[in-house]
Amino acid sequence: MSLAAGEAVAAKTQGTFGVGGVLLDQRGNVLKSLHNMVVRDGLIFDPTAHGERQLIDWYFAERARGAALPDPHELTIVTSLDPCAMCAGAILAAGFKVVVAADDAKAGIDHDASARFSALPAALRERAAAAFCYPAVRGSAGYARAARGSAPPAFFIGKTINEATQALCSLALEATSDKVQQVLHQDVPQASLLDPATLSNGHPIVRKLKSLYPNALSWRGAPQAPDATLAPYLQAAMEQDRRQGGDGDCSALLDAFGNLLLVTPGRRHRSAILTPFMECTRQYAQLRYQLLLGADAATEEAVHRYLGHPKHGTFIWAKGPDGSAASMMNLGAYGSTMEGPLPASNPRQLQFILARMNEDDLAQMCAAMPPLYSRTIGISPRQVADADLIAALLTPGTGPAGLSPAKLTPTCSHPESSAIGRLPF
Ligand SMILES: [Zn+2]
Repeated sequence: MSLAAGEAVAAKTQGTFGVGGVLLDQRGNVLKSLHNMVVRDGLIFDPTAHGERQLIDWYFAERARGAALPDPHELTIVTSLDPCAMCAGAILAAGFKVVVAADDAKAGIDHDASARFSALPAALRERAAAAFCYPAVRGSAGYARAARGSAPPAFFIGKTINEATQALCSLALEATSDKVQQVLHQDVPQASLLDPATLSNGHPIVRKLKSLYPNALSWRGAPQAPDATLAPYLQAAMEQDRRQGGDGDCSALLDAFGNLLLVTPGRRHRSAILTPFMECTRQYAQLRYQLLLGADAATEEAVHRYLGHPKHGTFIWAKGPDGSAASMMNLGAYGSTMEGPLPASNPRQLQFILARMNEDDLAQMCAAMPPLYSRTIGISPRQVADADLIAALLTPGTGPAGLSPAKLTPTCSHPESSAIGRLPF
């Protein structure tokens, strides 16, 4: 836990959320330690780069490289802060155990410190209760607590967290939250956004965007109201998602003007938690990060105005949430991308095409999420209004625009070979 706290302090020094974590094997040997990487160089680097999520992707990347690592259920993530909805979903989807230091009343999956996990869908609560351990903290400085949650892994039996270490884990986050919020909300208001479709093909912003997704800016619809002509772009990515170990899902981002910016398949062959939405939000953030890094004031302003914060655009999921751990992870990652209230003018920021649970159950699931997601952001995924778009995705290969998925330039199938796809391990 001291190592995790040390990582949290390193994160604070970097100017990102003060959270850190360590991955341990069954005997308690350290396999990897790292910290939050949401903010880097004073810029949003990757809204999904929380410590626990990165540890899980590190694990799967090592396995894919042939490293002889034990199965996830034999491994434990020790984290300085209660996992958020994204990380809790990722931990449950992958099958790790977790030992938690500081509580988090806003975004923590055990935000009410009851170990009942009512923030998760009912089917996941028992699994969380068996995987999430909150050891006792003994002391008198206000950080003491009784043990709760699952039985600890063998190497942690009979141990408690030192109160000073627990305090450090709490304070590292508290000391960074306000400053990171400022970085997250330095974007321009919607009224100041400019339409990237008016830029020439040779403009650096357009070139970078098209190097990430070759079909960027080649489709445009009514803002917040995608129609069936978008289907071929989605179907191409859904096919690619299947080829890359997924279930035929994809995620898209439209900007405030209705321009298509990005469509992503998942990369499940690389990591069990690399879902299409995780890829989508990360790739867009890293695109902006790379354009902003070291930019002069004029370039900086152009990037902010032509590539706005996603909250002014529309995220589209081919498949809606289904109450699984992966869905919780995606909704949590969506929350980490928005971070604050959705603009009043854009209540339909998150739309899905194919429903996988009924409307009431979905609303109930979102309302039960920790306060950051349910109250501050008010996450409320809605099904797209266009019935033809829904029908097009139900019957693959029947794109209505006379444009078959095969004719579209595919997303780069090896994005890790480009700087944009490189993961922040
Ligand atoms: Zn997290």
